[in-house]
Amino acid sequence: MSAPSSAARELYQQVILDHNRTPRNWGALQPHTHHAEGHNPLCGDRYEVAVALADDGSIADIRFQGSGCAISKASASMMTEAVKGLPRADADRLGDQCGRLVDRFRRLAPGELDPARDQHDLGKLRVFSGIWEFPARVKCATLPWHTLHSALDGSGHATTEAGTGTKE
Ligand code: ZN
Repeated sequence: MSAPSSAARELYQQVILDHNRTPRNWGALQPHTHHAEGHNPLCGDRYEVAVALADDGSIADIRFQGSGCAISKASASMMTEAVKGLPRADADRLGDQCGRLVDRFRRLAPGELDPARDQHDLGKLRVFSGIWEFPARVKCATLPWHTLHSALDGSGHATTEAGTGTKE
């Protein structure tokens, strides 16, 4: 009853497959002002995210490259679309929201949440609500956001296994 319809699931899968096949903002970004590498050892996802901040701190351009599963690549692709042009504070906020969203999905038992009825302002990123079916893939979906955060805060490196002490 509360699980997404199969039509919704199919849509999620279509969007993720499309971004995996044709990742947006793919490649190296030169020049850039911020850069980080992200690694999800559980899945083997590894990406570089490069950002060019404008003088006012907004995200003038962002690109990513690397290798990993379809979910991580699609998530990175959609992230770049979502934050490009945003003021930095808005990009941080969006990352926090995405992190909270996937965190919530991780805590819910499969099928307890209906992404179609659950309202939030993540827009297209909502396709990742489909990952409730694949709880181990949550880290794949959040890795690009961790990596973007590391780029912006200057630490330059992100891993899904840092500091939490938790294992899937
Ligand atoms: Zn992955």
